[in-house]
Amino acid sequence: MNKYSFDEIVAHLRNTGYVYQGSEIYGGLSNSWDFGVLGSFLKKNIKDLWWREFIERSPYNVGIDSAILMNPKTWEATGHLKGFSDSMVDCKECKSRFRADQLIEEATGLSADGKSPEEMDAMIAEHKIVCPKCGKHNFTSARPFNLMFKTYIGTLEDAKSVVYLRPETAQGIFVNFNNVLRTSRKKLPFGIGQIGKSFRNEITPGNFIFRVREFEQMELEFFCRPGEDLSWYQYWVSTCFGFILRMGVKEENLRIRPHSKEELSFYSTATSDIEYAFPFTDWGEVWGIADRTDYDLKRHMEYSKEKLLYRDPTSGETFVPYCIEPSVGVERLFLMLVCDAYDKESLDNGEERIVMHLHPALAPVKACVCPLVKKLSEPARALFEDLINDFHCEFDEAGTVGKRYRRNDAIGTPFCITYDFESLEDNCVTVRHRDSMKQERVAIAELKDYLKKRLEF
Ligand code: ATP
Repeated sequence: MNKYSFDEIVAHLRNTGYVYQGSEIYGGLSNSWDFGVLGSFLKKNIKDLWWREFIERSPYNVGIDSAILMNPKTWEATGHLKGFSDSMVDCKECKSRFRADQLIEEATGLSADGKSPEEMDAMIAEHKIVCPKCGKHNFTSARPFNLMFKTYIGTLEDAKSVVYLRPETAQGIFVNFNNVLRTSRKKLPFGIGQIGKSFRNEITPGNFIFRVREFEQMELEFFCRPGEDLSWYQYWVSTCFGFILRMGVKEENLRIRPHSKEELSFYSTATSDIEYAFPFTDWGEVWGIADRTDYDLKRHMEYSKEKLLYRDPTSGETFVPYCIEPSVGVERLFLMLVCDAYDKESLDNGEERIVMHLHPALAPVKACVCPLVKKLSEPARALFEDLINDFHCEFDEAGTVGKRYRRNDAIGTPFCITYDFESLEDNCVTVRHRDSMKQERVAIAELKDYLKKRLEF
């Protein structure tokens, strides 16, 4: 379990340039965050690895990149217009607002997922739940609140021009099912994945970037024959879990939580969440994997009147495929990775160092080139300028070498490369490893290959 407080980790991320407050000079915007000079790299590295492993190197899957604004009929078909809402309650005493299911869950440990507003009112009354802010038991009735952001397309702000910012990327995939079949020559089983922004007007965003209103999702819709869905579902649960382990997250901080019968969506035969022991809660969802049966394609067939069918090339049989959906948020993965990587260690000289044990493939800065003294800047800089053609590196000549190591440990740079007087003679540099702090001499001519091997995923 995590040893460090969430506040400490968040402060570190904000101090080092991983994350900035959104619109900071205007006093911010509630729960909006910007990814900084390091965070933008970490985010990109996460997305690149997902794309590589789930699309590029997958024998089954292809990728698309669909629009954020979609025909509003999409959201009628999926039920988002009617049902994509959370119930909220207000404390009549102190005016705080809560998501009713979260209020109930936190007070009683009972799940209120899928309960109607009336059922939630009854639970709040039965358990005499009090306001976590002021301790009083005096709530308004629970009422549904649609989480989709509404806007207008074109110049007229009337009912006909209403569109919504997509609350998930998945539907851009389902509506393109025929296009992908027509243009990719894919045969079942196959998946379609994409990475993109989603928007949800969350009632209670918070815990830093864990729950935000604007976030990125990496979603895969994997189509297979009915009857083969449960084994593919298991396959994707273990593939996603394996991906997280490969990114270096400690297994003891992870669990797979299958949804109970009561919690399952009515169309799903099986769903599991991969959860992480975040420092601010017991377990928080990172990745959801759901067997969605043929629900989405059938709904889109009904509303669009288009046939979204698969025709078996040998038997000629046509049917609606089943679909497994592994869906993950980039910000959630980001937060899990930094919480898991953050560490403080006591050194032999009595000092303490902060170190981020990020997987080298994810680290924003791969190596920092440090001339031992300023006199050696010129050849060290030439080495840096050569390395940066292949990796994102930094050049640092400020302060003692020890201080430069500490700075790089704190941001997760896996290698520091020191150019010293001997380097002028033997054409070698000292490579210092972030995690072990061990140092070794490496020939400059072999340095790129040496680093490449160690930066692999
Ligand atoms: P929750 O119950 O926490 O609101 P959900 O079950 O509705 O989440 P999904 O619709 O399954 O979430 O979304 C898939 C993934 O997208 C989640 O596992 C999470 O990683 C990410 N995600 C969802 N909502 C948010 C959000 N508001 N901020 C950041 N990431 C999110």
